[in-house]
Amino acid sequence: MDASIIRCVITAGPTREHLDPVRYFSNGSSGKMGYALAEAARERGWEVDLVSGPVALAPPCGVRMHRVVSADEMLGSTERLFAASDILIMCAAVADYRPVHTTPGKMKKKSGVFSIEMEPTVDIAKTLGARKGERLLVGFAAETDDLEERAQAKLVGKNLDWIVANEVGGRDCAMDSDRNTVLMLSRSGEKQRFGPALKSEVARFILDTIL
Ligand code: C5P
Repeated sequence: MDASIIRCVITAGPTREHLDPVRYFSNGSSGKMGYALAEAARERGWEVDLVSGPVALAPPCGVRMHRVVSADEMLGSTERLFAASDILIMCAAVADYRPVHTTPGKMKKKSGVFSIEMEPTVDIAKTLGARKGERLLVGFAAETDDLEERAQAKLVGKNLDWIVANEVGGRDCAMDSDRNTVLMLSRSGEKQRFGPALKSEVARFILDTIL
């Protein structure tokens, strides 16, 4: 790949699946890892499109921002950019379920226990993995247990080239921290560990490794 023309799409942050205008289901994700990747890709002179869920981070310089809220919106935006991309890095913590019914006005408080019916959201990585072509596809796996086995299953199940696995809950863990520790697995059986290190350093390591 000629580094001067690499077109890279990165998804970052959580998605929100609204129940009503003020309440939503989401994942704990600061977006820091995805934004660090966008910055590192930009440093290399790549063209970068960052598809971001709601986060409290400033947009990285020189990166095209695409702000989304739900998994459906993230798929729509990423799908549009996918056609002209060389590399897709899916760092977003997409909500796996959304409420079946949403209300246009704020739901009134109920007394006692009640249930909310949920349905799966679209799996963006799997959907685009099925149309991978010559692109390089990278996914993330955040796990509390069986890190390597679960990451390996996602690598294969979503038809990715690389998966970046990180453990949730330990020291220097992924969520909201400025630091991360990763295990990278490739489709061809390579295994690389890095960290604990700043997310900016982890981002550079990830880009070096996938190329
Ligand atoms: O299956 P799981 O959510 O653990 O997979 C994580 C990977 O898949 C991440 O790369 C994430 O961005 C992506 N993903 C997605 N769409 C979903 C769920 C996860 O693209 N609905």
